[in-house]
Amino acid sequence: MEIFNTLTRKIEEFVPNKSGIVKMYTCGPTVYHYAHIGNLRTYICEDVLEKYLKYIGLKVDRVMNITDVGHLTGDSDLGSDKMVLSAKHEHKSVLDIAKFYTEKFFIDAEKLNIRKPDTVIPATSLINEYIKIISKLLDTGYAYIAGGNVYFDTSKLDNYYVLTNHNEDDLIVGAREDVLADTNKKNKTDFVLWFTKSKFDDQELKWSSPWGLGYPGWHIECSGISMKYLGEYLDIHCGGIDNIFPHHTNEIAQSEAYLGHKWCNYWFHVEHLNDANGKMSKSNGEFVTVDTLINKGFNPLSYRYMVLSSHYSKPLMFSYDNLIGSEKAYLKLKKRISGLSRQEDKLDNNYAKYQQQFIDSMNNNLNTSLALTTVYDVLKSDMNDYTKLKLIDEFDGVLSLDLTKEIEKNINIDEKEIENLIEKRNEAKKNKDYQQADEIRNHLQELGIILKDTRDGTIYEIRE
Ligand code: AMP
Ligand code: ZN
Repeated sequence: MEIFNTLTRKIEEFVPNKSGIVKMYTCGPTVYHYAHIGNLRTYICEDVLEKYLKYIGLKVDRVMNITDVGHLTGDSDLGSDKMVLSAKHEHKSVLDIAKFYTEKFFIDAEKLNIRKPDTVIPATSLINEYIKIISKLLDTGYAYIAGGNVYFDTSKLDNYYVLTNHNEDDLIVGAREDVLADTNKKNKTDFVLWFTKSKFDDQELKWSSPWGLGYPGWHIECSGISMKYLGEYLDIHCGGIDNIFPHHTNEIAQSEAYLGHKWCNYWFHVEHLNDANGKMSKSNGEFVTVDTLINKGFNPLSYRYMVLSSHYSKPLMFSYDNLIGSEKAYLKLKKRISGLSRQEDKLDNNYAKYQQQFIDSMNNNLNTSLALTTVYDVLKSDMNDYTKLKLIDEFDGVLSLDLTKEIEKNINIDEKEIENLIEKRNEAKKNKDYQQADEIRNHLQELGIILKDTRDGTIYEIRE
């Protein structure tokens, strides 16, 4: 499989470590607010990546953090902790806020058929690990204490900008916040590993450390969680493109300084979902959530279809008109598929050809829109329904659009068979064999066929 690697700025063959288990790390949500569908675009694309790696026979061990401390309103250690602000605003404790929005995140993710990663770790649960890493960074001269905080010294690295091609002008976040620079920092790119005597007196969660009561910076949590659960060598690290700088740049700096060797081979970044005001963002007032879509009458999977119809490396423009278009196409596609029969048949000779077409699309830097085209090509082909459904089921294991869900209900059942079963049930009832009568009713119900006993006999309807 070929994939664009932000680290090398090239599309390259994905070669996992020799153990055969892909070590995959995902930056999780900052749980101070609802996840919007922009955040969820990133998680949909990462979900497809994970499922596709499994489809081609790899095992994947995937870890995600939950950011419940340390992520400030400014990415360069400025502003306030987003969690603390939200807790104040909602008159709740930080932990209550974190619990509420974490649960809601996974509920929304499930509505989009995003699989929960194997391991999900709240940042607040691994404080000792961060202390261990920071202590070593201080011992080895990569970190320093100033104004009560512990900072990472970026001047100690030869290639701090490894992920961003040394192009400081492109680092919008850095440039914007430069004006308000923290005077404790020796270099403007240095970042906080541990806050103690910080400007945030009202920080609710604090832990004791060798440097005093305090709390970790945002970046150290991802390095700490990743190294603890996935070891010293990571195959692939994922996030949205806004994470490239400073978050991922700082993760590389501190992890490699700590480990003394290269840490992660592939960096996978998803472009933003934009709306008329630019990047959809939690702090930017109006944003769209899964519930917004449901309340407006959309099927959330129409949004997943919209995301998969575009390439993860290109910005995606959200508008309700676009979504209406996607929903129409998605529902039409499902309707066509629901007309296929699951009747057992011979596997068509072209089965492997279409399977290869799907693989070629996904191997081509995860081209999900071409993969969707393959579904249409299968439907258009002259293969039998059995082969078509076998292929679509297989592809949907990766795309997760519930493409064949409707058909499951009436597996292999035709009118004549239903009528025979109704007659058998009537016979059983006549013989007072109510157990058998119920069994037949339940069996049909499982297939989506509902029986109704009327004065004129038993009728049935197929559930939508
Ligand atoms: P956050 O909850 O802000 O920490 O972000 C969670 C994930 O969503 C991160 O990987 C971000 O890079 C990503 N993200 C944030 N905004 C967008 C957006 N508008 N489009 C796509 N991904 C985004
Ligand atoms: Zn992260």
